[in-house]
Amino acid sequence: MSATISRSNLEDTIAILTLDMPEKGANILSSHVLEELESHLNAIEKEDKLQGLILCSGKPGTFIAGADLREFVASLDVDRQQIVSLCRRGRLLFSRLRELPCVTIAAIDGICLGGGAELAIACDRRLVSNSPATQFGFPEVKLGLFPGWGGTVWTPRIVGLYNAVEMITSGESISSHQAVEMGLATASVPAEQLLEAATRMVRQESQSGDFLEDRKRSSEPIVISETEMGFLGVTAAGFIEQKTKGHYPAPLAALEVLLGGASLEPEAAGEIESEEMANLFGSPVNRSLLNVFFLTDRNKKQTGSIGKSTELRTAGVIGAGVMGQGIAAANIKRKIPTQLTDTSEEALKQGMQKVLEEASYNRELKGPDVEQALRLAPLLDAVPDAKDMAECDLVIEAAVEKVEIKKLIFGHLEDAVDSATVLATNTSTIPIDTIATTLKNPERFLGIHFFNPVRKMPLVEIIRGSKTSDEAIAMAFHYAKKIKKTPILVRSGPGFLVNRLLLPYMSEAVELLAEGVQPRRIDRVATQFGMPMGPIRLYDVVGLDVAAHAGKTMIEAFPDRVLDAPLLVAMVDAGRLGEKSGRGFYSYENKKRRAEEDAELGPLIAQHKREDSDLTDEEIQDRILFPMLLEATRVLDEQIVENARDVDLGLIMGIGFPPFRGGLLFWADSVGNAAILDRLEKYQQLGDRYQPTERFLQLAKTNGKFYD
Ligand code: NAD
Repeated sequence: MSATISRSNLEDTIAILTLDMPEKGANILSSHVLEELESHLNAIEKEDKLQGLILCSGKPGTFIAGADLREFVASLDVDRQQIVSLCRRGRLLFSRLRELPCVTIAAIDGICLGGGAELAIACDRRLVSNSPATQFGFPEVKLGLFPGWGGTVWTPRIVGLYNAVEMITSGESISSHQAVEMGLATASVPAEQLLEAATRMVRQESQSGDFLEDRKRSSEPIVISETEMGFLGVTAAGFIEQKTKGHYPAPLAALEVLLGGASLEPEAAGEIESEEMANLFGSPVNRSLLNVFFLTDRNKKQTGSIGKSTELRTAGVIGAGVMGQGIAAANIKRKIPTQLTDTSEEALKQGMQKVLEEASYNRELKGPDVEQALRLAPLLDAVPDAKDMAECDLVIEAAVEKVEIKKLIFGHLEDAVDSATVLATNTSTIPIDTIATTLKNPERFLGIHFFNPVRKMPLVEIIRGSKTSDEAIAMAFHYAKKIKKTPILVRSGPGFLVNRLLLPYMSEAVELLAEGVQPRRIDRVATQFGMPMGPIRLYDVVGLDVAAHAGKTMIEAFPDRVLDAPLLVAMVDAGRLGEKSGRGFYSYENKKRRAEEDAELGPLIAQHKREDSDLTDEEIQDRILFPMLLEATRVLDEQIVENARDVDLGLIMGIGFPPFRGGLLFWADSVGNAAILDRLEKYQQLGDRYQPTERFLQLAKTNGKFYD
């Protein structure tokens, strides 16, 4: 195996270790790389002429991306003691950097994350490049872990307990500017001057010996009063509980380790870190979150290998409603010049304003940033007609959900634009081939299905019709990646992937209402499972009219298993359309427009109630999840997506299926498909939607898994 770390010397007094992992885009701390570091340190420790050691990366724009997660996965089943030893080994290795007789400096350009951040924090000093690509952080909590190679020991000793708690429990990275402000880095300089600055720093430090003073100071327990510690513990725990809703144990565990280790000497604090890490490593949440990491990683690699697309210079968006605005805003945010049109002048005018507001939204200001809006405005152009989109490389239609209107739009468009222009629809229910029937050139036509709200939802379904060309697919992927979305390839079919799986879950919730289960209870069971919101509340967000319309399409497509929902129709007839009309299953007619119980809903539900069932919470959970799971097996049979991983990624990114469950099929595998089959039995009298499919039976009977 070729080496990652190479050693060079500067005037015999400075050693430079450069990390450059062969054939990889980023440096990763694998066990092999740690061994290399160990042997370099063995040699350096014996050299008495050295004034300093500089650690840097041979890859511009990436320092170290983290530890090798594939090695983590391979160790998931090892025993507790081995995990403790692995953590201890990494921590003690990094600690040797603080025991060298010379100063140690990490010269960081680009991402410095996880294990890489722990290596850097173990050095005496850090210098960062002022490039926007430079990010420093401990994202371990996003994998259900915390830094386990001394990160929880040294970070608070360098930046203070408050900052360390915030960085480590949130998993969010900081910029080079923030790193300097926080005292985590000494200075930020242009990338090309990093080495020179580090060399200068070696000279200064070896003369002043300041680093030795700092080593002494940081090897003491942290000075913090009991009151302050108590206050920090209570406020941070409250904040974490509110954010994680009890589903993600790592941030709280990290908090305990940080607070518990603060009053100890570093070595004792490190031992707590290693011991506690063994409680999280290999836990169900850790396994699920690792799965999500690999799902996204696989998606990035796969979509990277999709054929080359022609350049995307200008895009068009037809329809300036909710979705058209979101799509146009996503475009201009990523610097894609965009033309927007609508048949309604008023809608276009309003749409233009909303697009700029959304594209310039600033989280810190909690509103649009006027300067940014002015910068982006030249990229957005209102045009009176789709005919004016002749120059666009891609046009996305987001007009009303009516097949005849969509056919008309594409008919006009086809004649107006260049023959190479790719045409896409954002339809949520109409099969791609149905719209394509009247097109002269259906090869360039496909679905690019966004989710609402576009700003927040990362998923985009790229829907291939039976005639769609590979070039059109390549353009769609190129586009989705350009606007920083997660695209998955889906074959056209009713509801495509995500809505097809969402509908059984939502419509079963309406069935439960007819069986006398209270709306709040259904929603509570779903959110306890980890869904971002319950299915009843989701109806109100989506709009009951929109949901009823989508439901109709699904009933027509799958009459054997999708149920009629007369209650939904009655709700729509009563003007209860959800949030947008002030009332749906809940009432929003209060000051904060919060979902509140609505006493007037009772009689409406009572008219459609068939029984008063006494289902347990577990049964309610089974009832809403199992039809979704069985539908997923049909989706796999029909090759709507390539495999189980696409199903899981689609649901996590499209509806917020809880990442800590790893995905619907990953969850089924971890519960055990045989156990689910047993549980299914008692629901089978409810109809075909609970009949195990052949694929599921096979898996359950052979103790098989969706993930092979
Ligand atoms: P919307 O009602 O908010 O906006 C539709 C806009 O299209 C209106 O401004 C209307 O004036 C305009 N329009 C109608 N006919 C037109 C024509 N011939 N040419 C140009 N503009 C025309 O609807 P929306 O929620 O933005 O949905 C748009 C499309 O996106 C639909 O196909 C819908 O199924 C799909 N979709 C919606 C959602 C969602 O949650 N809203 C999610 C995914 C996909």
